[in-house]
Amino acid sequence: MKEDYYDILGVSKNATAAEIKKAYRKMALKYHPDKNPDDKEAEDKFKKSAEAYEVLSNADKKARYDQFGHQAFEGGGGFGGGGMNMDDIFSQFGDIFGGAFGGGGGFSGFGGGGRQRVVKGSNLRIRVTLSLEEVANGVEKKIKVKRKKQAAGTTYKTCTTCNGSGQVTRVTNTILGRMQTASPCQTCGGAGQMIDKKPADADAQGLKVEEETVSVKIPAGVVEGMQLKVTGKGNDAPGNGIAGDLLVAIQEEDHPTLKREGDNLHYDMYVSIPDAVLGTSKEIDTVTGKVRIKIEAGVQSGKILRLRGKGIPSINGYGKGDLLVHVNVWTPKTLSKKQKEFFESMKDDEHFEPKPESSDKSFFEKVKDMFS
Ligand SMILES: [Zn+2]
Repeated sequence: MKEDYYDILGVSKNATAAEIKKAYRKMALKYHPDKNPDDKEAEDKFKKSAEAYEVLSNADKKARYDQFGHQAFEGGGGFGGGGMNMDDIFSQFGDIFGGAFGGGGGFSGFGGGGRQRVVKGSNLRIRVTLSLEEVANGVEKKIKVKRKKQAAGTTYKTCTTCNGSGQVTRVTNTILGRMQTASPCQTCGGAGQMIDKKPADADAQGLKVEEETVSVKIPAGVVEGMQLKVTGKGNDAPGNGIAGDLLVAIQEEDHPTLKREGDNLHYDMYVSIPDAVLGTSKEIDTVTGKVRIKIEAGVQSGKILRLRGKGIPSINGYGKGDLLVHVNVWTPKTLSKKQKEFFESMKDDEHFEPKPESSDKSFFEKVKDMFS
């Protein structure tokens, strides 16, 4: 059960906005991480009171909280997840302590030092089309990608505004003592570096579009629409930033005879009446090449032959699907006079009389079996 916001701040439900603000100010001072270094409990109280204040200081949120309690903020928006983070809390301080902490800027000196921004290049997206055999066996694809790369001859130097830290820090004296605030450097965008020299054909960041062949390892069992990430093969970032990623969307090509359904494959096999009556063997496609399968004499239309492990490997690495061969007995549409006479003579023959046995399950029972 989540603690009541009024209880956290130690105020009554009828407290005025000024009282709530005063109560929070008291809490924030008492539990401030600078005053309670390495004190997990204080940090927790600090965060909780910030969250409580966030809601109770906002007329709209307060009204919703008064009516619905914590449920007002569950599921979408609000603090559904892990409460407020330190950045949220410190940006709230401008309001409480009169701007001394700088709105929006980061807060260095808490939680393991300042946060130097690592500049990351943008991601690139491509599609790759795979045959069913490639999906089943996995494949390494060589893909030509046009990506922005640091142009040869581009040199960077340390940003003169921030001296390479990427941040501009400011020390202020406040009621909490000396506080240091930091915000990203405007000159270099937080990268800590700026262009020194660049060739004429490079863009303002010293980057140039070049074609590169990227090798993408595609594991067996991928599914249409899945996206693979090749780290660092997106656009380069300027200076010592890190390159973005290449996002590869999987597209599946239709196979001429095999149909995929999850990890299972289906194959429609047609056999003639003589083959169905006398038995035969037939060659069929699988994702690992052709295989010959035996058709017993007297096979019924609708029979499903299951070739275990001849389907698609599970992407999670657990097992493989099956190949299900559906037998369809082909009934001729035209007959010669002689053939017609033969079938007419068989009309009352006991061997042509349907006598389904329990092993000749109905179509629906077979489907049920397949998914169980
Ligand atoms: Zn800078």
